[in-house]
Amino acid sequence: MDKTRYQQQVAKTMGERELEDAVLEMAKALGWLSFHALPARSKDGGRWRTHQRGDVGFPDLCMVHPKTGKIAMFELKTEKGKPTAAQQSWLDALKGSCEATVASGIWRPSDLLAGTIGETLAWGTKKGSR
Ligand SMILES: [Mg+2]
Repeated sequence: MDKTRYQQQVAKTMGERELEDAVLEMAKALGWLSFHALPARSKDGGRWRTHQRGDVGFPDLCMVHPKTGKIAMFELKTEKGKPTAAQQSWLDALKGSCEATVASGIWRPSDLLAGTIGETLAWGTKKGSR
């Protein structure tokens, strides 16, 4: 199996949690400060909820690099996962922010395997625009 086909197979089976773990590990190694809200469940085993105020759909990861002030806000999805309407609203709004200092969008397992996530995280460690 060639590298590309192997990567496609791995991407198909990688869950959002695995992707998140990999991204957070890479971000920490490059000096990013990261935030990710985790859902919690009540003691009686009720529904999973992420407590918050404001508008739903906020991206999974919010990171800032303390040396450059660059910000990365990304929604994590499995290879075939689709953003909800609320998540897409946030991503559309973020797209209008300053591209020189803010990176946003959706990250999928294939982005991790292709090196796109690593490139964005490395971008955040350097002053100046892309
Ligand atoms: Mg997600």
